[in-house]
Amino acid sequence: MKEIICITCPKGCHLKVDEETFAVTGNACPRGAVYGANELRSPVRVVTSTVIVEDAGTSSARPQTPDCDSRTGNACPCKPAGAVLARRLPVKTDRPIPKGKMFEVMAEINRVRATPPIKVGDVLIPHVAGTDGNVVATKNLP
Ligand code: SF4
Repeated sequence: MKEIICITCPKGCHLKVDEETFAVTGNACPRGAVYGANELRSPVRVVTSTVIVEDAGTSSARPQTPDCDSRTGNACPCKPAGAVLARRLPVKTDRPIPKGKMFEVMAEINRVRATPPIKVGDVLIPHVAGTDGNVVATKNLP
């Protein structure tokens, strides 16, 4: 019996899922049963992130590394002195994608550049990482 917390809604029910039959207990609604069974069969997640905006005047901006900390501002190790950090556009996958594909999805998101104008829902990466999901903008960028 596997114990997991349902993340489908803020209630966060504590689920118990039978690893052989995928029967779920502890769910307060049917969505928890679907989530619990899927979580053991083939877990999926919506990926949210940001992409660099390709703006005139910020061509010297570099993609941030995993060591970057936006809170440090000028202390960012990948930011050359005097450089302007690139604007970033929030994005997400338009459907849950397999958890095993998340690193591939993030690699593609880190490579892409957004060129204005962009509207909410515009597809920036179709069929990301070979999945059925697309990476779409979640903010207008005039
Ligand atoms: S089982 Fe239903 S009520 Fe409980 S957290 Fe999941 S979605 Fe929410």
